[in-house]
Amino acid sequence: MEDNYRGSVALITGGSRGIGFASAKALAEMGFDIALCSRNRKELEKASEEIKKENVNCLFQPIDVSREPEVITFVESVYDAYKRIDVLVNNAGIQLNKPFLELSSTEWHSVLAINLDSYFYFCKYVGKHMTEQKGGKIINISSVLSKFALPGRAPYSVSKAGIEALTRILASEWAKYSILVNAIAPGHVDTELVRSDIKRGLLDEKIMQERGVLGRIGVIDEISSVVAFLASRKASYITGQTFVVDGGFSIKK
Ligand code: NDP
Repeated sequence: MEDNYRGSVALITGGSRGIGFASAKALAEMGFDIALCSRNRKELEKASEEIKKENVNCLFQPIDVSREPEVITFVESVYDAYKRIDVLVNNAGIQLNKPFLELSSTEWHSVLAINLDSYFYFCKYVGKHMTEQKGGKIINISSVLSKFALPGRAPYSVSKAGIEALTRILASEWAKYSILVNAIAPGHVDTELVRSDIKRGLLDEKIMQERGVLGRIGVIDEISSVVAFLASRKASYITGQTFVVDGGFSIKK
């Protein structure tokens, strides 16, 4: 992807590791200045050092994305520092794998708060600046589980279906401000999110590999390359869409 986005700014939630970090790195390679958040300061420091190797600015703040006041403070500090936000990658998320009858309402609300409410907060507070700027790109990371059923994933799948609905609504509401809003629905990708469930025996690596026709789990760069495309000027006629990037998970019977 061409390196001519100097002076443009991308904010990535959950940018300290996994898909979020790979996306931040890909956008930094294009020349974007970067802003990152997650809960762990040490991981953010490490990620930020890596990103600065691309000769771009990178600022970060440890926040919990499910807490609206923390989101407001972070977004405003990014805007104060950079005076614009061109790309928002809503990515922070957690997985919970538990049979429905064992779910507590606290667990249900916690997944929805982190995976869906946070997307609402970031769209709202970044969107305020993008509408004033009259332009921007929002890329929401969803999941192939928004449409496909795996037992034990009720709050996760519901949160991801909500993200895709939000994507379509905002694309239609904000087209008049030249804001393009799209989503990416990955299949299984090799990150901490799935590795920790494999270690705890909640996921089986072989079964995961066999779910896609390509017969393997994806790697983070296979998602960040789509983020980079959607953030680029090449994606100027695409809005309200969800891009499935799943190694053929969703076409297998
Ligand atoms: P990781 O667990 O590797 O990364 C998740 C990121 O989100 C971390 O930076 C984490 O940092 C941050 N995060 C989680 N909760 C919060 C919170 N409450 N506040 C702030 N930051 C938070 O996961 P992935 O990279 O795999 O996942 C990224 C996105 O991709 C998620 O939305 C996930 O649902 C989606 N996805 C992933 C798939 C996969 O197979 N890996 C498949 C389909 C979709 P910290 O914990 O320090 O806060």
